[in-house]
Amino acid sequence: MKIAVIGTGYVGLSTGVCLAEIGHTVTCIDIDQKKIQHLQKGIPPFYEPGIGEMIMNNVNKTKLFFSSSHRDGVAGADIVIIAVGTPQREDGSCNLTFLEQAAIDSAPYLEKESIFVIKSTVPIGTNETIQKLIESRFQKKVQIVSNPEFLRQGSAIFDTMHPDRIVIGSENKDASEKIAEMYRPLNAPILITSIRSAEMIKYASNAFLATKISYINYIANLCEQVGADVEDVAQGMGTDKRISPAFLQAGIGYGGSCFPKDVKALLAISKENGINPGLLQETVAMNEHQQTILVSKALQRFQTLKEKRFALLGLSFKPETDDMREAPSIPMAKQLVELGAEVIAYDPKAVHNAKKILGSTIKYADSIDEAFLHADAIFIVTEWGEITNMDIGNLLKTAKSPIVFDGRNCFDEKKIKACDSIEYYSIGKPVLF
Ligand code: NAD
Repeated sequence: MKIAVIGTGYVGLSTGVCLAEIGHTVTCIDIDQKKIQHLQKGIPPFYEPGIGEMIMNNVNKTKLFFSSSHRDGVAGADIVIIAVGTPQREDGSCNLTFLEQAAIDSAPYLEKESIFVIKSTVPIGTNETIQKLIESRFQKKVQIVSNPEFLRQGSAIFDTMHPDRIVIGSENKDASEKIAEMYRPLNAPILITSIRSAEMIKYASNAFLATKISYINYIANLCEQVGADVEDVAQGMGTDKRISPAFLQAGIGYGGSCFPKDVKALLAISKENGINPGLLQETVAMNEHQQTILVSKALQRFQTLKEKRFALLGLSFKPETDDMREAPSIPMAKQLVELGAEVIAYDPKAVHNAKKILGSTIKYADSIDEAFLHADAIFIVTEWGEITNMDIGNLLKTAKSPIVFDGRNCFDEKKIKACDSIEYYSIGKPVLF
């Protein structure tokens, strides 16, 4: 099939590349000309494992093209997939400006038979609104399909090639069958629903996962007070098949471009529809609290943070991505600086993006060793493999004091107890000396 993908962000690019990989001819379009110029040379605009190789492979096979012209990709396409950003407005609701513009940019070139797919995460009813927009403004009949995306940054290629399920929301049987056909080579379970149910599945899934994280963090904070260990508790809970161990890792809260904004959008949708949003309000409040918890522990330990030098290990919102959107490291770094501390941060991939947000308010180290040097304490923020595998005992010898605040529970008791005179504070577990 001939496919156009609009938007070459994490979702659009991963989708376009994987659809080319399974045999379709794909043109990825973006208004960011610099991004397109890089992509035409085979350079991905962000760090995502495996994506660079797959781009080169499919460009060489003439299956994958990049353009900044909507006409180039949309004219003659069987399927047009929209994957532009749907960020949060100040009031928490979803901002559809990019989506509407992408529809307006693409609509003039839509063929009679082409199917218009919305992959971006959108409030319930948006697909219908976009369909009406195209029909009224361009006098074109269009088949619209809601096809929400569930990939995780850091494993976007794997997730796109091996989805747990593909959700196709449509009111037209031919259109949903055509989209199912497009995905057939992936051999994944396909769920066909109404458009509104498909739109809701995405928000309901993300809000559920965020709530699961906030729930285990709540249990973790309780564990600290009553002398239980949250990792044992999570294991005991997670072995119950009804619960599952996924998303039961206590820590300093969720971040990223999806969970925070999607929970807030669903909250706004609840309010608009007169449904009490209390459950989701607690999810958000718990997450905000959790992002401050390491600083509270440090304040309790040191009384004042003035003129203390702290190493921050990990800046991205999760490992294996350079994405800094809504990363817990941001409020944490800001809080430490406000309290008078000097912060020196290390991240394997996200420093260039972190500098755009935190600028020169903090310092940046080129290695873990450099960050540890003369530090009064170490804060572990993101569980990159390089960080969880570090020889912490040895590294602490160069620090001023061997104090660690671990926001991701990276180390087991044996490893910590083998370190000389360490003071180790983690989440939901007893302090180790
Ligand atoms: P992103 O911000 O990384 O990328 C969006 C891209 O769209 C940008 O490159 C931008 O230049 C481009 N764009 C904007 N307007 C355009 C237009 N008119 N024509 C062409 N290109 C245009 O976004 P993302 O993280 O890939 O997310 C896209 C959507 O997918 C969002 O709705 C998000 O909620 C959803 N989603 C994201 C993830 C994720 O992990 N990032 C996972 C599932 C779903």
